Amino acid sequence: MAQTFNCPNCGGANKYAGAGERQKCAYCGTEISVPAEMASRAAMSKLGMQARPWIILFVIVVFVLPACGTLIGVGAGILGAIAAFIAPFFGN
Ligand SMILES: [Zn+2]
Repeated sequence: MAQTFNCPNCGGANKYAGAGERQKCAYCGTEISVPAEMASRAAMSKLGMQARPWIILFVIVVFVLPACGTLIGVGAGILGAIAAFIAPFFGN
């Protein structure tokens, strides 16, 4: 996504640096304010990037861990059943 906006001083097309609401014009060096829509969109995507690890952690805790717990529970149950079945043959 090419995000450009024109410098009000020289009219040069500036690429948005991706952060903040102000940046220097690449052509004349004037401090220009980034269009609010552009800045807020960048802030939103940054927020999304920061939230991503938490979303992954949430998914792991809610979906993966219970599944693992179930597998371990089933495994332990099967082992227990096998042990209970075999035990009489080895017991005295
Ligand atoms: Zn300029």
